[in-house]
Amino acid sequence: MISFWEKTALLSKDFIIIGGGITGLLTAIELSKKFPQKKIVVLERGILPIGATTRNAGFACFGSLSELYYDFQREGETKVLDLVEQRYRGLQKLIQITGKKKIHYEAFGGYDVINQKHQIAFEHLEEVNDKLYGLFKIRIFNDVTKKIKHFGFNEQIIKNLVYNPLEAQIHSGFLMQRLKEIAYSKEIEIITGANVSRIEKNNENEHVIVENEAWRNPLIFTTQHVIVCNNAFASNLLPELNIESGRGQVVVTEPIQNLPFKGTFHYDEGYIYFRNLQNRILLGGARNLFYEKEKTQDIHATTEILEYLKNFLKEIILNGKTVQITDSWSGIMGFGESKLPIIKSLRPTLHIAVKFSGMGVALASTAAEKVVKLIQ
Ligand SMILES: Cc1cc2nc3c(=O)[nH]c(=O)nc-3n(C[C@H](O)[C@H](O)[C@H](O)COP(=O)(O)OP(=O)(O)OC[C@H]3O[C@@H](n4cnc5c(N)ncnc54)[C@H](O)[C@@H]3O)c2cc1C
Repeated sequence: MISFWEKTALLSKDFIIIGGGITGLLTAIELSKKFPQKKIVVLERGILPIGATTRNAGFACFGSLSELYYDFQREGETKVLDLVEQRYRGLQKLIQITGKKKIHYEAFGGYDVINQKHQIAFEHLEEVNDKLYGLFKIRIFNDVTKKIKHFGFNEQIIKNLVYNPLEAQIHSGFLMQRLKEIAYSKEIEIITGANVSRIEKNNENEHVIVENEAWRNPLIFTTQHVIVCNNAFASNLLPELNIESGRGQVVVTEPIQNLPFKGTFHYDEGYIYFRNLQNRILLGGARNLFYEKEKTQDIHATTEILEYLKNFLKEIILNGKTVQITDSWSGIMGFGESKLPIIKSLRPTLHIAVKFSGMGVALASTAAEKVVKLIQ
């Protein structure tokens, strides 16, 4: 049974956000700007968030040459330019909110590492630059193929290297820590261990039903507005959204003496990615090679992908040298038909900001801004 105290003070909120990743916290922060007097709570099922935000690769990126080249073919110019602008503006807004220092933002630039299969994208470099010029006011992609040797990559496989000076990297754990600090400073409440099982309309209000082992019966929160920010897991609550889960895996190496490169690197249209993490290498991806098996919400790693990544590390990045893997993990992303996120109201009191197609670091702040604009 619920006590009088719990019912009157703890289970009744003005706004409830479901999901305590980057989108949930940025949405809460944005809401507190618009409604500073209101009670805002974030409900997170994990003790730490357990989706993508603290399990990603920490690229502050908006699309590599080959990814954008193919996207222009598939999606058309207007859609792609809109998406790139949202990502770029989103990153600028994120830094405005968090500052650079506390999230370890380092602007080393980014690279597209191009093999034979994607030569066509390299051949259209200037055409892609023309399309993006209006947005960046610089020619964003630059041919730096001569650096392949210096970086020590396998020259049999890597044919071209393309540099993007506006790309950067962050520490995803410190980003989450910083967002929590900001949220607490605005008196936003974050409740962890709160697994939402249902959302139900109840007269003028919404009921958010939470399951937790310590409580025999589900807890019912009452609120004026619910904002669903649980990305890949949104279809568990709202099946009509049709969001597909995709697992991404990451490994980190031991420190490497005199690591010859710094920056964020994309390979195979961005399906494989690596970066320096101080003097270690962080490497992830290859989900596309095991596509059906990786459509999952299971957070465990797959041996085949780990083996693939280890081999890629040795044969392509380190040109035959073996280094030890010290860390490996996986996270879950949300996908759908297009790469644009879903931001909309399902009814006047229920709103969603989900499906970031593996680029939520860039897209979450503008998504938060847009979803809060929907709320009256
Ligand atoms: C391996 C990997 C690498 C990536 N690399 C990058 C990158 O370099 N750059 C980039 O921009 N993006 C990257 N991404 C994508 C990016 O991390 C995500 O798009 C972004 O973190 C999504 O944030 P979110 O807050 O919307 O979702 P999440 O971070 O997944 O947060 C959703 C939260 O909701 C919680 N939740 C779920 N269901 C419930 C429920 N029923 N009740 C309560 N809580 C619930 C989950 O526990 C989770 O903490 C990567 C993702 C992965 C997995």
